[in-house]
Order: sequence, then C-alpha cells, then structure tokens
Amino acid sequence: MPELPEVETIVRELHQSHLLGVQIVRAEVFWPRIIEGLLPQQFCDRMRNQTILTVQRRAKYIHFGLSQGALLIHLRMTGKLSLGDLKTPLKKHEHIRLVLSDQRVLIYEDQRKFGRFSFVENVSQKFAKLGLEPLSDQFTFEAFLKLFEKRKTKIKPFLLNQSYIAGLGNIYVDEALWEARIHPERKLEALSRAEIRALFQSIPLVLYRGVENKGTSLGTHQSNYFNISGERGGNQYKLNVFRQEGKACPRCRSLLIKIVVAQRGTHLCANCQN
Ligand SMILES: [Zn+2]
Repeated sequence: MPELPEVETIVRELHQSHLLGVQIVRAEVFWPRIIEGLLPQQFCDRMRNQTILTVQRRAKYIHFGLSQGALLIHLRMTGKLSLGDLKTPLKKHEHIRLVLSDQRVLIYEDQRKFGRFSFVENVSQKFAKLGLEPLSDQFTFEAFLKLFEKRKTKIKPFLLNQSYIAGLGNIYVDEALWEARIHPERKLEALSRAEIRALFQSIPLVLYRGVENKGTSLGTHQSNYFNISGERGGNQYKLNVFRQEGKACPRCRSLLIKIVVAQRGTHLCANCQN
C-alpha cells in the first residue's frame, strides 16, 4: 500500500509533468465504485473543463486543486496513475481516464479496486480529521508530545492511526520504531520522554529516506507500487527491519522477528527494541 513517501514521489512527478494550467476536457469512468460520494455522471460533470491549478499531497491523498473545488485521489492498496496520450489503449485494470486539453490522458488503474476518487468543494473540511503532517512545520515535538496525553494504546496502532499522524503505514511505522529502539507493543503511557523524542526524530528520518529512494516497491508483481513512469521505487533495498525477519539486525546482529500487532504483520529486533 502506498504510504507517505510513495504518494509524495507520485505528486512530485505529477508536478514535473507540467500538469498545472492544463484543462480536464472530460472524465471517463469504467468502474463507478471508484467514485466516492457522487454518481459517475455527476463526477464527470464536475470534472469537465476544470483547470488544474495545483498538485499537492496531504497524508496519503493526491490533491488536485481545480478552478472550482478539488479532486482527491487515494490509491489505497493497488491504485496506480500514469500518463498517456489519446492513442493509449485501455489498460486491463483501468477504471478512470481523464482526458486533458494538451492531448494527454491521466490513467487510473487499480487491480483490487479499493482506491477512491472524490470531488470536494471544501477541501479543508475533508482534511479536518487528519492528524499531523510529519514532514511539515506543524510536526513539532510539543505537538507530537501532546498526542500522547490521556491516550492508552499500544504505540504501533497509535502511529498507524491517520487522525493522530497522517501518512504512516505498516512499512514506515516498523522502520521508525526500529530506529527509535521501541518495541511495537509498548503502551504510550510507559514511554519515557527520551523515547518519545527518539521516535519524534525517527519518523521524519524514515519518511525522508523513503522519499529520497522514490518509495518502496515490495515483491515483483503488477499490483505493486510504481511511480507515474511505471518505475519501481528503491527503498525496499534500504529497509532495516520491514520484511527482514530471519536476517541479522543491522544494529546488533540478533535475528529479526515477525509478530502480529493490531492485526498487522510487525517486524522488529527483540534484542534492541525494548
Ligand atoms: Zn537489534
């Protein structure tokens, strides 16, 4: 599933693809359930003749600012965007195509069909429930510390909860906890201030590393994460702990293990994460 670094990579690439100022001539919808909140026809009406003014990321959303309102895309498990032209044949798992005024098309493929497109008038309302953006100025130690107040949960599900911190998923949570030497099952109230500070530093560290390496592509099949140009990321070669069970911990050489925490496969070093 694309997490913050993968979505950030896609947004940066969309930026470099000179989409700003281009108009959406029309939308073609092949799988109606990808559209959230509107009927396909209503969605197509809203998209028609809109100019793309901005492309940004908020949490795991791709946010197109349009002349009126915004288009939000959430890739969920297997959503993929690519650019083609009017002659690009329909792809096997293509569900939406935006035809652009410069003869290009923005193609959305999604093998498992969990991804969502939504048109919203008021984007700040839509984003109001999202938590701190970990690569922004709002991610301060004070704001991070405040999230720990009066909350009683294990650290891993807390970090996965998008209403506290936005953009983290299974890969980067496991990596951040390893960097901070914190066991994923620790309770929030049991963490020391020094441990919280270590975690506060490790979250942007693993996310920036992911962005630098243009995202993590796991496995080899087509349902994987690819950028707009269809290239795999490189961060899977830089992971310290995620899906590395049975290998030696890069820090202490103990064998890394896999357990289940909050129904999620969780990777850690039981020796140096306490
Ligand atoms: Zn270790």
